[in-house]
Amino acid sequence: MDTIINIAYIVASVLFIVGMKQLGSAETAVRGNLISSLGMLLAVVVTLFAADLDLGFIFGGLLIGGVIGFIWAKKVQMTGMPELVAFFNGFGGLSSLLVGWAEFAKNPTFTLTEGVEGSPTFTAFAVVFAILIGGITFTGSMIAYLKLSGKMSGSAIVFPRQKIVNGLVFIGLIIVGALFIATPSAPLLGVIIVLSLLIGVLGVIPIGGGDMPVVISFLNSFSGIAASAAGFVILNNVLIVAGCLVGASGLILTIIMCKAMNRTLGNVLFGGFGAASGGKEVEGEMKALTPEDAYYVLEAAQSVVFVPGYGMAVAQAQHVVKEFGEILEENGCEVRHAIHPVAGRMPGHMNVLLAEADVPYEQLCEMDDVNDMIEMVDVAIVIGANDVVNPAALEDEDSPIYGMPIINVHKARSVFVLKRGAGKGFSGLLNTLFFRENCRMIYGDAKETITKIVAQFKG
Ligand code: NDP
Repeated sequence: MDTIINIAYIVASVLFIVGMKQLGSAETAVRGNLISSLGMLLAVVVTLFAADLDLGFIFGGLLIGGVIGFIWAKKVQMTGMPELVAFFNGFGGLSSLLVGWAEFAKNPTFTLTEGVEGSPTFTAFAVVFAILIGGITFTGSMIAYLKLSGKMSGSAIVFPRQKIVNGLVFIGLIIVGALFIATPSAPLLGVIIVLSLLIGVLGVIPIGGGDMPVVISFLNSFSGIAASAAGFVILNNVLIVAGCLVGASGLILTIIMCKAMNRTLGNVLFGGFGAASGGKEVEGEMKALTPEDAYYVLEAAQSVVFVPGYGMAVAQAQHVVKEFGEILEENGCEVRHAIHPVAGRMPGHMNVLLAEADVPYEQLCEMDDVNDMIEMVDVAIVIGANDVVNPAALEDEDSPIYGMPIINVHKARSVFVLKRGAGKGFSGLLNTLFFRENCRMIYGDAKETITKIVAQFKG
């Protein structure tokens, strides 16, 4: 029986990996998702029927959790996805914490059952690890959720000697963890749980502003590592593999995002970004343009680059953007969509929206490719983007975002910025782009503005 279960787990693991590989390209992504889901179904079915479980509890939990998840996922706006993801990550961590705790409650001395290889010390270590990472993931994700949903301030919360306090709590946890591994006991376990939950809060409150996407991705990686640790606690191979895959892919994404922001992970986690406003004063004024006047410029444009940002998601403008692009192409204009790695509020946010609207994949360009040819572009149209086109990142050494690569729209011949008013971006910084000579502001909801320009083209 064990052999059959393990073969099924290997098949499931292969399906996860093949599915993930296929997620790498837009053409195979849907199939990849399906293949990975099949792997998960196989793993779940085999686990449910192989282990001696109380299926009443399992299906009861599935029903309650499924109904809550279904209703919530149906109700959530696209712009609310990142906080939902943060929330779900948190519950992944909480599950691992509970698995570790339950193992102790079931078998406080971690005595091995007959025929099972391993050591009680290793199980005790896995329990501490699952609780530590699970606890940090849970409270860290809840803080990320509260910050992203605006239920608490999104900026960094810093206090004197914060790093020393955090370091002491962490060292305390390591000492109590070591004591628990040597002599497991309920009070020590309680202290480990409390300190892990505390570290999650202390670790995420000093992070704010534009660094939140990196934190979400990092916590996603943590939820995978926590699941893997839970797999070691209950000796379930497929949970170990699946957890490692989530942990590794989350970490790779975290590193890619750090590179995109020209920051190190250490600097993101311990730099306290977002606490200070920083940045130079800006001279000049923001010059407005009407959609009608924008039409005259665009009618003559030979090349246009769209730079979507969070505001496009708020306005749900992706479908009119596609129509706009088609009209410009029919007019003989070359059209591209430049996507910054941290535009929007979650990794791949803009790609998902543009794919939903069926914008041709060939028109999507990465930041570096667009920057190479931006000086040749007649009009860069910034659709609800702000931080990802702020030239202060290149020019103002005092700016907290100094060093972050941006899409250099300020170097295009003209820039049209579509936004509702003088609202700041996620980082809360003033954008010097808006005061440039070659920049014009077209105020209003992005979808309404584009609809008006499209109407002009249609005559
Ligand atoms: P920003 O958050 O910098 O700016 C969005 C702009 O959209 C605002 O200035 C707002 O201005 C405008 N806007 C809002 N609603 C509308 C609307 N209906 N129509 C037109 N404009 C609108 O967005 P970016 O995409 O440029 O940058 C993303 C930021 O979010 C970065 O700082 C990034 O680090 C951070 N972040 C990214 C995550 C990710 O994974 N991608 C996750 C979490 C944070 P106004 O109010 O004047 O309309």
